[in-house]
Amino acid sequence: MNTIDNNLLPLRLTIELVPEPCWYANLRDVLPRPAWDKLRREVYRLSGHRCGICGAGGMLHCHEVWRYDDAVHIQHLEGFRALCVLCHHVKHIGLAGKLASEGKLDYEAVVAHFMRVNGCSRADFQRHYEAAFAQWRERSRYEWQTDLGDYTPLARPDTAR
Ligand SMILES: [Zn+2]
Repeated sequence: MNTIDNNLLPLRLTIELVPEPCWYANLRDVLPRPAWDKLRREVYRLSGHRCGICGAGGMLHCHEVWRYDDAVHIQHLEGFRALCVLCHHVKHIGLAGKLASEGKLDYEAVVAHFMRVNGCSRADFQRHYEAAFAQWRERSRYEWQTDLGDYTPLARPDTAR
């Protein structure tokens, strides 16, 4: 569960940073491409081909929703969410900052989207951002095990093709 906003505003759109040791332990990277395409199309269909957070149409990304058990350092794959490009950049705002530094993304558009969707101020964004990075630094100190949950059979090559 994401507990970093307990003493702040309730936010519809939050930052979800993946601890560094988990960066390549995601379902997308272990699934054969056709299986991932099938899964993400189903996620988009169930979301009515709209962003599951802000409702925008257009291009969608399939976001993996993880729950981090900080007591035993296991990341659990909880499911998927169809997200518009800007909501997805907010989720992984560390990567967004890197893309912006390379001139590939307008970082201010991502921050403006966060403020618009949440109806909050720049200061609210900044507090949430700092809390998310503090949590990310703490979680990145550990090795994590990955639990794909209901999606484990998909990741087995013999059953996924
Ligand atoms: Zn969105």
